[in-house]
Amino acid sequence: MEKIVVIASNNAHKVSEIAEALDFPGWRFRTLREVGIVSDPEEDADTFEGNARIKARAAREASGGRAVLADDSGLAVDALDGAPGVRSARYAGDPCDDAANNAKLLSELAGVPDEKRTARFVCTLVFIDEDGSETVACGAVEGRIGHEGRGEHGFGYDPLFLPDVFGGERTLAEALPEEKNAVSHRGNALRALRARIEGAA
Ligand code: IMP
Repeated sequence: MEKIVVIASNNAHKVSEIAEALDFPGWRFRTLREVGIVSDPEEDADTFEGNARIKARAAREASGGRAVLADDSGLAVDALDGAPGVRSARYAGDPCDDAANNAKLLSELAGVPDEKRTARFVCTLVFIDEDGSETVACGAVEGRIGHEGRGEHGFGYDPLFLPDVFGGERTLAEALPEEKNAVSHRGNALRALRARIEGAA
């Protein structure tokens, strides 16, 4: 039987990654726009999980009780006490501007030596099934913040982020999309969510 899962995002990048990771028989993923829903709740929680839940519950309500999946993600830098954290998208002010955010991050870390530039991308997913049951899954990828942007792929802070799994030599923006998905916070969260859903079935 076909099951529509509404993704609480209009980001086409995320939709294809989610659809590949959760390719359960009969599941069809649609963005909010594709199902004609406008849902833009204030993301005012102070955790990724809290914000993902706000987005998931708002999308569920707006869709009249369909299954929904929401994610919230961001970058946590140790030398900045976890900033930009839940403010990752708006670090340099509204509206979201990747270049300005990256410039601010580099200036906040000016003079911080390599060994203290440790950071991680974090992603939390909240899935609400048609029966209202909620499943939460988290993923992270550890790395360091470089001294200059490198690479043309990806988005956000990818050009500055040097994952440990790449030996600290290549940024996430220098990785092809499938290489990034294999190691990323979102990829890891999706794999964890898949395992949870399979375990519950
Ligand atoms: P959101 O969860 O899509 O709202 O992402 C919040 C912000 O975190 C984005 O605007 C980016 O600045 C940052 N971010 C989240 N995931 C990634 C990623 O995979 N690469 C680079 N930046 C990311």
